[in-house]
Amino acid sequence: MAANKKLLMLPGDGIGPEVMGEVRRVVDWMDKRRHVSFDIEEDLVGGAAYDAHKTSLADATLDKAMNVDAVMLGAVGGPKWDNVERDARPEAGLLRLRKEMDLFANLRPATCMPALADASSLKNDVVSGLDIMIVRELTAGTYFGQPKGMQEYEGQERCVDTTSYTRGEIERVVRAAFELAQKRGKKLHSVEKANVMEVGVFWRKIATEVAKDYPDVTLEHMYADNCAMQLVRWPKQFDVIVTDNLFGDVLSDCAAMCTGSLGMLPSASLGAADESGRRKALYEPVHGSAPDIAGESKANPLATVLSFAMCLRYSFDMGEDADMLEKACADVLDAGYRTGDIMQDGMTLVSTQEMGEKVCAQLDKQAA
Ligand code: NAD
Repeated sequence: MAANKKLLMLPGDGIGPEVMGEVRRVVDWMDKRRHVSFDIEEDLVGGAAYDAHKTSLADATLDKAMNVDAVMLGAVGGPKWDNVERDARPEAGLLRLRKEMDLFANLRPATCMPALADASSLKNDVVSGLDIMIVRELTAGTYFGQPKGMQEYEGQERCVDTTSYTRGEIERVVRAAFELAQKRGKKLHSVEKANVMEVGVFWRKIATEVAKDYPDVTLEHMYADNCAMQLVRWPKQFDVIVTDNLFGDVLSDCAAMCTGSLGMLPSASLGAADESGRRKALYEPVHGSAPDIAGESKANPLATVLSFAMCLRYSFDMGEDADMLEKACADVLDAGYRTGDIMQDGMTLVSTQEMGEKVCAQLDKQAA
């Protein structure tokens, strides 16, 4: 079969190359067993790119990212680059990539596989089987609004951040969330602080207007503080949550911790759809480069493998393969295999590579 699915892999730093290696293993499995080939290029980002090019994202790499169907990223950063000038830091490369690709919708699923429910700080029945999706606006709002910074005000210093959203910025992320909800449980919570913020009132108005185009999805509005409480009280009441950049930052971490471990959390960041419906997209685990365990084969590759499952679902329209891969990850855990970060009594400790092999073995079983 012709290779027509263009994928750019940017393993990055620390455990990035190790966890991305296990995505490669899954890609090879798909090639052999499902006859799905990907046209893969690999390049440098973060500290690795800095070491090679004195910039954490070379223009040529950005160019490639703009011209593929999807980008898979491992992680960037580490103490080696702590003293590098700010603009060339590993994180700057990732921020530039997100900005240039105009990835405005950050999808953070919080799913809790039953085998890991005891790893959560919440009660087993509250989190077991949890499956929610937080859609965070990623390119506007409080982190980018102007004016920003120190000012002189009535004879003293004052510091300002501005929360600002245009109609278009709100509408596009709300629409992306409605479209996701249509493919899931058909329930969308739009979260803001309309009780105290003008931007919240505007956000609520637009979400209500957009809802008319998605009559099959139930829209509910919720204040962000209540949402934080509800996430730890009874998270299963949610299906999809859409919210702004600042609240999304906080609420997605809050939801993530319902599920236990950083090593299990995937993410996707999507841009606008072109005429063919294709969106620019970047998939990456939520965790960082974990320099404390880098190179020791201890990293949990499942967050990155599950990010690849999201890539199959959202960029390649391969929902069936994504389901298979997600099930294979759950089956490996059900069979008792664990990397160090999620190790429990009575389970079998495996390395990064062994975890990848076990996932492929479970895929074999499903394909048999
Ligand atoms: P981190 O996520 O790298 O690590 C936090 C802790 O979780 C560490 O103890 C680590 O060993 C553990 N951990 C993380 N991922 C794991 C995995 N897959 N398997 C097993 N254990 C895992 O966060 P940090 O320590 O705050 O940051 C380390 C570096 O990563 C910093 O340079 C930071 O800037 C960078 N970072 C990058 C990203 C990114 O690339 N998107 C995100 C966060 C942090």
